[in-house]
Amino acid sequence: MLWEVAEQTPRQELFDKHWKRRSGSVRDQRSHDNCWTYAGTDLFSAWRLINKKDEEFRTFSARYLTFYASKMMRWVASTESKRKKSHHCHGFTIAKTLQFIQENGVPEEDPADSERDFSCITDAPEENASNMYKIPEEVEIRVSDKLEDLYEMLLDQPVGADLHFFHPEFSNIGSDIYEGPKSEISIYSELHTVLIVRVRKHKGKLVAIVKSSHGKGKGKKGYMKVSLTKMVLGIGRDNEIMSPSFLLTNFTCLVIPRALDKPKSEKEIKKRKLGSCRLPEVDPETSVQLLEEPYLEAVDDLLLQLLVEASPQDKKFVCEEADKALNTMVNSVARLPLLRKLQTYVCQRNPCVRAKAAVFTSNCVSKMELSEIEEFGMVLIVQMAADLLSDKMPEAREAARSMVNSVYNKFTCNGEEKEEQGNRKEAWQKFCEKNVTGPNAQAMVKIVSSP
Ligand SMILES: [Zn+2]
Repeated sequence: MLWEVAEQTPRQELFDKHWKRRSGSVRDQRSHDNCWTYAGTDLFSAWRLINKKDEEFRTFSARYLTFYASKMMRWVASTESKRKKSHHCHGFTIAKTLQFIQENGVPEEDPADSERDFSCITDAPEENASNMYKIPEEVEIRVSDKLEDLYEMLLDQPVGADLHFFHPEFSNIGSDIYEGPKSEISIYSELHTVLIVRVRKHKGKLVAIVKSSHGKGKGKKGYMKVSLTKMVLGIGRDNEIMSPSFLLTNFTCLVIPRALDKPKSEKEIKKRKLGSCRLPEVDPETSVQLLEEPYLEAVDDLLLQLLVEASPQDKKFVCEEADKALNTMVNSVARLPLLRKLQTYVCQRNPCVRAKAAVFTSNCVSKMELSEIEEFGMVLIVQMAADLLSDKMPEAREAARSMVNSVYNKFTCNGEEKEEQGNRKEAWQKFCEKNVTGPNAQAMVKIVSSP
């Protein structure tokens, strides 16, 4: 589904910001699936140039990232991808690309890479290159899908973004405005990572000028105009885009937190770093074992992000990202381990964190099969819910009620308990009285009695 929305006009000063000349040349990814290596390194190079770390634009190695940014994704590509015989390159998010550069660094590009193609299976560059460039530790990686945030980011630097790529429209766009699919033969291809260098009006329409990585033969010398007033919904292989999105999304940039302009304690730096994007891999086709490990590593970070004390705007970015990732986990195979982690957070002293944890716990429980509930422990869930029933946060109380209902429904589905309506209630009452102390036991019985 595609439709036109009213223009969100940016402040006049944004129209004066042109980052094209500070964003490097147009490169060509050829047939590789590694657009993120080009946009990610260009974003880093531009950041260095703008913040006077370099005097000239320094180009970093796309090939290096193709081989080393994610050994797990690479392994998946080499075993499960349709192109595994010819390519081991893979898709990746721009935020994770930047995170990799922050943690491991990236070397400069071999000038020969711009002249000729390389094999992403056999032409591995030296992994421990001598001259690696890292994004400084205190720099935050920001991600948002809101236009107002893009406008803010673009005041200071070019911005990385993912574009909903419809074929053949985007490939054949030339100097026209890319407005998504135009005909019945249009096919949704994938998210394609690009670099936004400018927002401007073209023939009265608001557009973003993006740099792609398919050489100068595409678009207008490698740059395309993308509409900022078209929205899409329900696209992708499994309709995975369920909320409306602009044609450009996942706006990503590097920010030095203002408060860090003056020196701060190490604790505070660490705290702020939690705000940076640490999202787990999300590929529904990847096997269970592969999924669980990165998910679980990320859970503590994600939950802690909700605790980060940052400016209201920082907090908005952080919470939205954490929300998104946690929702993905609720719907994935990692539900049970996630629930075990959440358990410690529903006892958190911070009421906002406690309420959030309660909401995700309740979402988890509602998706769980009886066998999963039993594996976790039905009594444990009921006790958690009982404690939350008298929480001072309304969301936590609501989540607790919904947990009680989920468990009750599963409880009464249990073969042994499948009896008359009255008997089920009686069995539930006994179960609650046995496992929950005080007035909350009565409350639990009341919840399931109310229509
Ligand atoms: Zn490749």
